[in-house]
Amino acid sequence: MISIEEALKIVNEQDIERTVKEVSLEDAQGFWLAEEITSPFDLPSFDNSAMDGYAVSGISDEYEIVGEIPAGSTADHTLQPGEAMRIFTGAKVPQNTTAVVMQEKTSVEDNTLYVDEAISKGQHIRPRGKELALDQTVFTAGHFISPATVGLIGSLGKSRVQVYKKPEIRIISTGDELVPPGSPKSEGEIYESNSFALSAALDRYGFSCEESKHIKDSFSAIKGGIADFLDHSDVLLLSGGISVGDYDYVKQALEENGVSELFYKVFQKPGKPLYFGRRDDTFVFALPGNPASSLTCFYIHVLPLLQKLSGAANTGLQRVRIPIDHNYDYRSDRPVFLKASIEGQTVSILNRQSSSMIHSMAMGNALAFLDGPQTVQKGDMVECIVI
Ligand code: AMP
Ligand code: MG
Repeated sequence: MISIEEALKIVNEQDIERTVKEVSLEDAQGFWLAEEITSPFDLPSFDNSAMDGYAVSGISDEYEIVGEIPAGSTADHTLQPGEAMRIFTGAKVPQNTTAVVMQEKTSVEDNTLYVDEAISKGQHIRPRGKELALDQTVFTAGHFISPATVGLIGSLGKSRVQVYKKPEIRIISTGDELVPPGSPKSEGEIYESNSFALSAALDRYGFSCEESKHIKDSFSAIKGGIADFLDHSDVLLLSGGISVGDYDYVKQALEENGVSELFYKVFQKPGKPLYFGRRDDTFVFALPGNPASSLTCFYIHVLPLLQKLSGAANTGLQRVRIPIDHNYDYRSDRPVFLKASIEGQTVSILNRQSSSMIHSMAMGNALAFLDGPQTVQKGDMVECIVI
C-alpha cells in the first residue's frame, strides 16, 4: 500500500506523448495551450482615452474646443496649449494631450470648455503598451484557456491557437447487482450510478466520456470488455470489482490484457483499493465501486492525470485552508477525505461519511482532508479541496 503523495507522484511522473491540434478561438475555451503566445504589438497600441470626455492640452480650467474624435478615428490631430477636443472611450488621444477630463466634470458654453476639477497630467489616458509590450511573452504552453484567455488572444488578433488534444476516455462499470436507472429492479439489485457520476464529473472539468458500458461479474466478459475499450482509449476508467471479493476480477483481467500495474491500494479513506496501470499510451484507473469512493478517487487521482494528458501546467483541484465551524474527532488511522460544505468563511464536515453514501457529497462542495487520527477544534484551519 502506498501513500496518497506517492500515488500522486507516480501519476505525475508518467511520461506522456501529447498530440497538438489547432482550434479556432471560438472552440479554444477549456483546452490548454500548446504554444507560447507573444504579443505582436504594444497593447494598447496607441495612447487612448479611458473616458468619454475631453482631451485637453496644458493645465487650466478653460479650453477652446477645436473638434471631436470618435472611437476608431484614424485622423492625426495635434492640440495647441489651451485647446480641447471632444473624445470618446478608446479613441486615440491627439498629440500634445496633457490629460483627459471626464465629461461629468465639465460644462460647455459656446465653444468654451469649463473644467471643474484639478487636472493631473496623464489622467484618464491609457498609455500605449501599458498592458503588454511588443514581443512580450503573454502565455506559455500549458496555460489553461479560460474565457479571459480567449479574450486576450483575440485582442492580439489571433483567430486560431495550438492546443493539446484531450484524452479519449471510456468507462466500464462492473457488478451483477447493478441495473440501469430507468429500468425495473428486483430484490437484491441496485441502480448503477457510478458511470453517470463519473461521466458527469468528466463533463464538469472539461472532458467527456466517449462510451460507457456495464459488464456482469464474469471474468471472461470483463476481460473481453477491457480488451475492446483498451484498444482505442487514452484513458479507461473501471468501477467496481477491484477489491478482494471472490467476484472482483478486474485486476486479473487487466493483467491478462497486458496492462502493467503502477500502483494498487492507497493508504486513504475512502478509496483504498484504487488501481492505476498503463499499457503503452493507455492509462487505466480501476476505481472502487462504492459511489463516494469512486468519485473521491476521481477528484483526487484521476483528474490530475487527465489534466496532465491535456498539457496542463498545473493539475489538481483548488485547495484552500479554512476554519472549521465545529469540533471533529477523527479516529481511523488512514488519511481521510471528508464530505464537507464550505459556506461563507467556514467549513463544516457533513453527516454520513460512509463510502457507500453519496448524498452528503451531493449536498456539499468540498472534501476536507485530515492526514490521520486527530481531534480538530472549532476554528482550527482545515485543508479543503474544492469540488
Ligand atoms: P465493489 O467495488 O464491486 O465490491 O462494489 C462495492 C460496492 O459499491 C457494492 O455495494 C456495489 O454494489 C457498489 N457499486 C459498485 N459499482 C457500482 C455502480 N456502478 N453504481 C453504484 N454502486 C456500485
Ligand atoms: Mg462488484
